[in-house]
Amino acid sequence: MFSDRKLPSYISRENVGPWHIYLEQVDRVAPLLDKALQPWVETLRRPKRSLIVDVPIRLDDGRIEHFEGYRVHHNTSRGPGKGGIRFHQDVTLSEVMALAGWMTIKNAVVNVPFGGAKGGVRVDPRQLSQPELERLTRRYTSEIVSMIGPDKDIPAPDMNTNAQVMAWIMDTYSMGEGRTVTGVVTGKPISLGGSLGRPDATGRGVYVVAREVGQRLGLPIPGARVAVQGFGNVGEAAARIFAEAGASVIAIQDVSATVYAPGGLDLAALRQHLRATGSLQGAPGCETIGREEFWRLPCDFLVPAALEAQINQFNAGEINARVIVEGANGPTTPEAESILADKGVVVVPDVIANAGGVTVSYFEWVQDFSNFFWSEDEINRRLEKIMADAFAAIWVLAGERGLSLRTAAFVIACSRVLEARAIRGLYP
Ligand code: NAD
Repeated sequence: MFSDRKLPSYISRENVGPWHIYLEQVDRVAPLLDKALQPWVETLRRPKRSLIVDVPIRLDDGRIEHFEGYRVHHNTSRGPGKGGIRFHQDVTLSEVMALAGWMTIKNAVVNVPFGGAKGGVRVDPRQLSQPELERLTRRYTSEIVSMIGPDKDIPAPDMNTNAQVMAWIMDTYSMGEGRTVTGVVTGKPISLGGSLGRPDATGRGVYVVAREVGQRLGLPIPGARVAVQGFGNVGEAAARIFAEAGASVIAIQDVSATVYAPGGLDLAALRQHLRATGSLQGAPGCETIGREEFWRLPCDFLVPAALEAQINQFNAGEINARVIVEGANGPTTPEAESILADKGVVVVPDVIANAGGVTVSYFEWVQDFSNFFWSEDEINRRLEKIMADAFAAIWVLAGERGLSLRTAAFVIACSRVLEARAIRGLYP
């Protein structure tokens, strides 16, 4: 376990949350890094800056409600901060720190010129009307405005935030600047400088790395059985693209239910049922099974694409998948990872598996700066190449040095980040 020495004073053992998963991953990789980089490793254990803000808004009934918001810059050695904004009732500062840390690693894994950042508001957005959500987004943006900017820190969508939320952030920031600044966020609507291919990019990236690992393990996508947790931005797109490539998506779990069809789910019918009823419960052509049963289903690819720590010491031993492709950030705890390694389950870590989103966010940012927009084919082609090349480098290093794919990815990323840190040196 980590020592208290590694925790900043504002985080205690009791509320360390997923930050301890991130710290353990850094501890695991630290001894494997080049000697010249060792003096800089501590940089990775400390977020560069963390902002906590009060977000007061007027509700539709006239009452004033306060929400807690955060924005964290974990590391900006390689470029401006980049990372999503999450709206969720359980968001904490330590969770946002962990997510920002993983963004530092992820951006370096795919070698886009960004540091790591993340933000969040502790709110259940389902309890807010659309005008309340807009007021919350605009006030949060105003509170963190000193942290963000197109060459400073560029937010994007994460859980419960979408293109509309990005449009409100972009508009609020632009009003303060007195000019339109499209490059301050990515994941925007197309009509505001968004990129073609961005909505599906994370799910497409999940599919590309699954295909790449499948090729190396003799596990082709056509005919493969796939189970997906989460049917949102990442999970829905991943499931759809797997199915288009000939896989059979046998189970989906979201917050409302777990649905299963051994012969393959009708994803279009699921989407329609979810839109109409707000739940997967009772969807046609499938049965509803227990939440825990989901983890025991025999399958080739298991894609967690919802929350952190979903695969843990309690269910890892029962998992019946050949490969886990982490669509979510931090879905597998270190304890679970050891159990899975003993069982021979291959885990493709989040920092490569879900990097498709930030890769196309990078394309969007470049397009906004140049005001020249690419075709969807061009974007998907470039995305595939970056993801496949980054995965190949991780696979080779893991084989050469006998490392897990996660540790290999961290070695590559931490070396890039710390090399930049070391060359820059300390100011003053
Ligand atoms: P989303 O809000 O669009 O969807 C989240 C999904 O998870 C929903 O289907 C929801 O029902 C489900 N869910 C929530 N709580 C659950 C629970 N307790 N059990 C089962 N399912 C539950 O969010 P998203 O953007 O798809 O993000 C999902 C994950 O992917 C997060 O970890 C996020 O950080 C990560 N991620 C997202 C992106 C992106 O581009 N959106 C990029 C990289 C990583």
